[in-house]
Amino acid sequence: MSLLYQRVAFIGLGLIASSMAHAIRRAGLAAQTTGTARSLETRAVAAEIGLVDQVFDTSAEAVAGADLVVLCVPVGAMETVARDIAPHLARGATITDVGSVKQAVIDAVAPHLPAEAHFIPGHPLAGTEHSGPKSGFAELFDNRWCILTPPSGVDPQALERLTLFWRGLGANVDLMDPPHHDLVLAVTSHTPHLIAYTMVGVADDLRRVTDSEVIKYSAAGFRDFTRIAASDPTMWRDVFLTNKDATLEILGRFTEELFALQRAIRQGDGDLLHGYFSRTRAIRRGIIEAGQDTDAPDFGRVQKKQD
Ligand code: NAP
Repeated sequence: MSLLYQRVAFIGLGLIASSMAHAIRRAGLAAQTTGTARSLETRAVAAEIGLVDQVFDTSAEAVAGADLVVLCVPVGAMETVARDIAPHLARGATITDVGSVKQAVIDAVAPHLPAEAHFIPGHPLAGTEHSGPKSGFAELFDNRWCILTPPSGVDPQALERLTLFWRGLGANVDLMDPPHHDLVLAVTSHTPHLIAYTMVGVADDLRRVTDSEVIKYSAAGFRDFTRIAASDPTMWRDVFLTNKDATLEILGRFTEELFALQRAIRQGDGDLLHGYFSRTRAIRRGIIEAGQDTDAPDFGRVQKKQD
């Protein structure tokens, strides 16, 4: 893969930025990388492990001379960051972000950027429950989707370059309009996270089942909820605060379906339950066929050797 940008600047140095930094190096996509984060601690760790070529104390220094700036902070912090960097951006720079919600980020960021900046919002559909500068790895985006939501009238060359950049990071790229992105993600990510948070909360409240039993027998299904429910609280708080309408819409439909299944259980309607579960099983097969998950036993988890 060839060099696409001279200088890529990261604002925020957590899971997504650090994975991007590793993948940039793997593919040789940028001549230089810079970055900054809110806390001294994160900046010190990033400098110590050589995550980017130069770590700066301020976002103004980090973005100076950068032809690509990537905002990798929680959605709720995007506006402050945009306001801070705007006066220091290089002419003609491309600004993108990785936020999990798109319309709210556009509303928060776009008004602050200079007219000649190319603002192309993005969202890589890849992540883990881990955070921070040490949590990233170069393979995170391999064969995952990155959705870009370019505004109408976007510079075609800037869009082409950013598309090639994400492909160089390993991802497949799709374009969407922001409200559609937010609805799709409410179905595929945001509402499932809320359900996982709720289920783990419910188990925690159950007094007839002891904590040790919940942990000991978690492999029966609960464990996968706990992994999702261990995701970063700040990031997910911001997702629900900023993708409110789409999440509430999907949650409403979820509740209706849940009541239907509840009634089927109460009435002993095995046909309804069997039909429903057959339909959902087919969706799982579709995900595996699309290469978006593994059908290895136990989700491909490495089995512990029995001593
Ligand atoms: P993360 O590991 O928690 O890192 C967030 C980074 O943002 C940290 O370096 C943090 O600095 C910095 N930050 C927080 N508030 C800031 C502020 N006000 N000003 C400047 N820097 C600030 O988070 P992440 O998982 O990489 O997520 C970053 C973005 O990617 C979020 O918008 C999220 O929605 C999106 N995203 C996440 C995932 C996922 O699964 N995690 C997937 C796709 C997209 P300190 O360390 O100093 O606090």
